[in-house]
Amino acid sequence: MAIREIRKYPDPVLRQKTDRVETLDAALLRLIDDMVETMHAAPGVGLAANQVGVPLQVAVIDLSSREEKGQRHPLLVLINPEMLSQEGSVTEEEGCLSLPEYTEMVKRASKVKVRAQDRAGKSFELEAEGLLAKALQHEIDHLNGLLFVDRLSALKKDIFKRRYKKVAVQKA
Ligand SMILES: [Zn+2]
Repeated sequence: MAIREIRKYPDPVLRQKTDRVETLDAALLRLIDDMVETMHAAPGVGLAANQVGVPLQVAVIDLSSREEKGQRHPLLVLINPEMLSQEGSVTEEEGCLSLPEYTEMVKRASKVKVRAQDRAGKSFELEAEGLLAKALQHEIDHLNGLLFVDRLSALKKDIFKRRYKKVAVQKA
């Protein structure tokens, strides 16, 4: 396993719509293991393959450190995830490993249903609320080339662009 470099905004790979995974081979399993290790090291609770520069429909989510309603979610590997349905709405703070030092309130569906394949290639469906619903929407957005800032109002997007430019300049 290896830690891969997390691509940061405005890297164009983050804007790329990822391709469906057709073959589950050793390289794909290695990618998944590396993504899990990279996410844990960051640390983060979710990572999409294009965030490590691979434009494929693969995402990992680990909310096992965050207890919610007395439940802990296991580590999730999502290959070719599809959003089947979305319900309700909730506005909560979000951040992203590709946009360090920036968080904002984002409006999302409160309940989602997703279909994906696991690392053995087995198809499964998942209904989620709360943190997991938020993470699933965030990661599926990544795989479609979207970042959470794309979900902000025009005014907030503008503030983001100006503020983020400043952060980038300070770091350089
Ligand atoms: Zn993200």
